[in-house]
Formats: sequence, structure tokens, C-alpha cells
Amino acid sequence: MRYYLLTLGCPKNSVDSEGMAMLLSQAGYGGTADPDEADILLVNTCGFLTAAEDESLAALRELAGNKRRGQLLIAAGCMAQRNGERIVREVPGIDGLLGTRRWMEIVPFIQGLRGGTGQRALGRYALLGDPEQPLDGPVPRPAVVAGSAYLKISDGCNAPCAFCSIPSFKGKLRSRPTQAIVAEARALVAQGAHELILIAQDTTDYGRDLGTPDALPDLMQAILDGAPGLRWLRLMYAYPGHVSSRLIEVMAGDPRICHYLDIPLQHGDAGVLRRMYRPSKVEQVLDTISAMRAAMPDMAFRSTFITGLPGETQSEFANLLQFIEEIQFDKVGVFTFSPEPGTPAGSMAGQVSEKTKSRRRERLMAAQQRISLARNQAQVGRVLDVLVESQGELSDRKGPVSLARSYRDAPEVDGLVVVPGVLPIGRLARVRITGALEYDLIGETVREEAIALIG
Ligand code: SF4
Repeated sequence: MRYYLLTLGCPKNSVDSEGMAMLLSQAGYGGTADPDEADILLVNTCGFLTAAEDESLAALRELAGNKRRGQLLIAAGCMAQRNGERIVREVPGIDGLLGTRRWMEIVPFIQGLRGGTGQRALGRYALLGDPEQPLDGPVPRPAVVAGSAYLKISDGCNAPCAFCSIPSFKGKLRSRPTQAIVAEARALVAQGAHELILIAQDTTDYGRDLGTPDALPDLMQAILDGAPGLRWLRLMYAYPGHVSSRLIEVMAGDPRICHYLDIPLQHGDAGVLRRMYRPSKVEQVLDTISAMRAAMPDMAFRSTFITGLPGETQSEFANLLQFIEEIQFDKVGVFTFSPEPGTPAGSMAGQVSEKTKSRRRERLMAAQQRISLARNQAQVGRVLDVLVESQGELSDRKGPVSLARSYRDAPEVDGLVVVPGVLPIGRLARVRITGALEYDLIGETVREEAIALIG
């Protein structure tokens, strides 16, 4: 029996897909990259934005259109959970729906589907997650990719952000037990992971549902103690107001924790932040960033912003521009506002035109490019450890190059360090930075060091 698995969406979805792939292979299913060869067609959908739902539906419809007799088509993940009705309505060939917190039941789900004994909902076989289900139990892990692996510490979110649909289908925050996370970290390091990346909807809220708010610093310490071979521990998706002084202290106190923080702030104007139902004390964000820079002068900050929330005025947008100038983020992602059905912002008065949203996005990106370039230029001359991701050729360079990341770069969303020559994938190397572009850095291995490869 073979399965084809297509993953859409964010790293959190990729982690769930990795878990499903592991469970399927443990149960004797083989994977295939060719849908024609598969008995099970599985799409781990994204449902964060309407555009992401459209992409998920297109992938499902294409598979349904070519489905042959005996093949099963299953939609798993966020869109199955959030909007299974739409999948059933628009993809007549769909056989089953598996919700976000039910992916670990993929094997019995398939068996139930094949035997016709599974639960039914929406006229199909369906296991749509109970969002209140605790996240305990073992989570099997696949091989590490290029020396790096994501580690999911919780699911769901307690925040009420007006534009976001995630809590409506993921439910409130549910933290995984510390022991299970540490055991997984240890297993990943044993498989060759130099870097572990902590992810969740809000990593900094870890532990609140277990009665221990601000438990993230202790969790990070437990991971470092439990997996002593780990070289980099990276933190993604922090929430403003949840970055505690204890977290800063733990981050500054162990060189294995990357001096990097992804803190999606969404806006820099207090009025817009209030309409987003997000913390609106801009001063507090500035204080947090200053405190982190004081404790760790080489901190790299990434953030994401939304342009065109309903009612966003020209002067509110100007405040956002000024905010990014003041903070000087290393990396920034910008999205235009998408009115999501069922969210408060989806039906707010004063929707901004697509043209204005896009124009503001372009302006913000252009301003940030200049800042990113200056931040990157300040790296020239530094000696940094980098994790090698891949090898390739660049049109303007002779010979092969290695593409790597420093502590300043998370995979998929940030830049790269381009190093001439072939370095082994998944290994750490020490390089001197010799050049800077807006997104990427250029480096060369440190020849005078006894060993350029350090891990
Ligand atoms: S913190 Fe993030 S996941 Fe949670 S509601 Fe806000 S935008 Fe959505």
C-alpha cells in the first residue's frame, strides 16, 4: 500500500505531515512522489486565509480529477477542520476529512475508510478534531533535514486577533508536556539535528494551559539539558507582551540559543493595533527590543506586518513606516490584509482597496530593504557559524557554491549565506562574512581556523 502526501501551508503543518508520514511508514505504507502510483492521496491543507483555501481546493480538485478506482482522497489539516463543508461541496471526489488535532489517527482513519467502518460527518468519513483534546502522547519524528528540524511545542492560540481565523479551528492553546518535547529533542539530535526550531501559534504562551505561564524559559533550559549535543535552539513566533525578563535571561545565558527572535507584530500604530485586538502599547515593544539588544547586542529580529486593515489611514500607515525605521528589524515579511469570513475584521467598516493595500505593502518592503541591507552590511568582517543547507551554482559566480544559514536566518523565510566551494549539507562551518546584499550575505570559509567544519 502506498501513499502520496502533499503538504501546503506553514512549518507547523509540515511538522504534522512529518508525523503522519512516520506513522504511515511504521504501519507498512510506502511513500511515493507520484500520485498515479499511490493508493492513498493525502493533502495536508492550509486554511489560514481564503487564498490558502483556494490553493488547497485546487490541489484537491486536481487529484480528484485524476483519481482512479480504488484510490482514496483524504483532506487533512487546517482547511479540513475549518471549512470541511466547502471541501465536500467543491471536491466531489473527496473520501475523508481529518482534522488538525487528529493527524496522529491517520492509520486507523485509513483502515476505517477502507473497511467502511469509520465515523461520518458532512456526508463523508471524518475525524474532525476536538480542539480541546490535550496534546500529550508520543509524536514520532522522521529524519532531520539538512541538520535542522522543527519542534512543535503547542497548538492553538489564546489571542483574540481580529483578523485571524486560527483560534476558530485550532482552539485555545494546548501545550505539549515538557518531557515529551525534551524526548523528541533528544531523538532529533541523535538523528543529526544541529538546529531545533521551536514553533507554535504563540511559543511565548507555552505552559499557560498547564497552569505555568512563562514556562518557555524553563522548557528551553530543559531541552538544552536533555539534548546536550544540540548546537542551535531557535525561537519563532513570539507574542508582544509575552517576552519575559526570564526568557531574555535564559536566551542570553546559553550560547546554544540563537540570538534571534521572530516576533510577528502586525502593526506599529496604536490605533490599528487596538482595532486588531492586539497589545497596543508600542512603547512596551520598543522596551522589550531594547532590553534584548542590551542583553544580546548581536540579536537579529524578524517580524511580520499587515497593511490595509479596515480603516487604516495614511497617517496610521506612516506611523508603521516610522516604527520599522525606529526598530531597525533585520528581516520583515509584509502581507496585505485579507478579510476572513467569521473574523471581526472580515466585516469591519472601512475596508481598504486592494490597490492601496498593495501599494502600502510595496512601500513598507522598499523601506525595509534599505534597512536590511544596512543591517547585513554591518555583518561584513564578522566570523559566523553557518549550517549548510544545499549546494548550487550562481550565474554571476564561477564554480559551485554552498548555501547556508547563520543564526540570523530561519529556514524558508530569511536569507542565506553564500559560500564558494562545496561544503557538506547538514554540517556547521565557520565563515568570515565578506559581502552583503539586501537578503543574503557572502562568506568564505575561515582558512586559518584549524577546522572550518565545526559540527
Ligand atoms: S497570535 Fe497569531 S495565531 Fe494567535 S490569534 Fe493572533 S495572529 Fe492568530
